[in-house]
Amino acid sequence: MGLVTLVDLLKDADSRKYAVGGFVLVNLEWLQAVAEAAQRKQSPLCLCIAQVHFDFVDMEALAPAIHQASKQLPVPVAVHLDHGKTLDAIMRAIKCGFTSVMFDGSDLPFEENVEMTRRIVDFAHSVGVSVEAELGAVGGGYGKVEGGEAPPPELLTDPLQAAEFVRRTNCDALAVAIGTVHGKYKGKPKLDFERLKKIRELTDVPLVLHGGSGIPPEDVKRAIELGVRKINIYYDMQKSATDRIRELINRDGENVTYPDIMSACKQGVREAVEYYMDVFASSGKCSAPNILCRNCQACSHAERVSLSLSDEELARRIAIAVAEALKGGNPQ
Ligand SMILES: [Zn+2]
Repeated sequence: MGLVTLVDLLKDADSRKYAVGGFVLVNLEWLQAVAEAAQRKQSPLCLCIAQVHFDFVDMEALAPAIHQASKQLPVPVAVHLDHGKTLDAIMRAIKCGFTSVMFDGSDLPFEENVEMTRRIVDFAHSVGVSVEAELGAVGGGYGKVEGGEAPPPELLTDPLQAAEFVRRTNCDALAVAIGTVHGKYKGKPKLDFERLKKIRELTDVPLVLHGGSGIPPEDVKRAIELGVRKINIYYDMQKSATDRIRELINRDGENVTYPDIMSACKQGVREAVEYYMDVFASSGKCSAPNILCRNCQACSHAERVSLSLSDEELARRIAIAVAEALKGGNPQ
């Protein structure tokens, strides 16, 4: 079983300097495509369902399939609610067995965002669930700014406020607004790296970028250097799937069957996810035993790690061997 919390994933991402993709799912084909990509790329994974998609995504129906896929995957998986806006959605996700939730109070006044986030963190931590919070406005319709324009500077995350927010809420990860946009960017993304650097200096939690689709690889690399440990992707997954389906219909016209469309969709989603796993440098992170194996146990590396890394177990075995030797018996 490779289910882990977001805290586990981001701790490893922090120590090995990469970012985990938060890939937002809408149905079973997407789940299969993302699972295949993670297996092929040997990459840790954060599978997300977004509250904004609840009109067409049935979280309760999809959750058992996500857990089943997570059990079979040889990589660690955090199952995460993206942009939880209401207490009801967050409680539902926790009941579904999600290991992590996002509470997005970024539309609220600062004090209300602090208060709500703090209460959700207290509850979630009591049942072992991680919490991502958000401060500042990411563009593109989930927050205060509609459309593909980056929000004006006064709506981006204020570094001093971020420090206070993290200290008072005890959140596990912070989604920051530094000019990213949900959906399609109008023109080239312009990220405020000076702001990101200041936020990094003043806070001690892993940072998250939303609106990851379309950020150039060199900007992703810089963001990772400045402490970003999770990057969310949705827009490019749906674009890649739709492009593949369109190509198929243009090519084969009336001969196209529904299973053909499902295959094209899966191919498109998988290509987008694999691309971002490479860009985020999470590819290959599960190709050898590593610290994540202690909590993951999803593949054959786990045994080797627990033998080589668990000091307590090693000490116990040495103590037994010494005791047996002193007694003149045979150590087991
Ligand atoms: Zn988002």
